[in-house]
Amino acid sequence: MVLNDQRCTCGKLLFKGNFSGQIEIKCLRCGQIKSFSGLEEIGSSVNELS
Ligand SMILES: [Zn+2]
Repeated sequence: MVLNDQRCTCGKLLFKGNFSGQIEIKCLRCGQIKSFSGLEEIGSSVNELS
């Protein structure tokens, strides 16, 4: 199993691993709250569907 690195936009490693469902985590470096759903990061990538 591959563990995904989940990083803040400031570059700090927030956590490592795979999960299902949704998680919010606050970056301790810059204070930004990042949301992740499953293995996909929300809100920081262009929606390429459709
Ligand atoms: Zn950060």
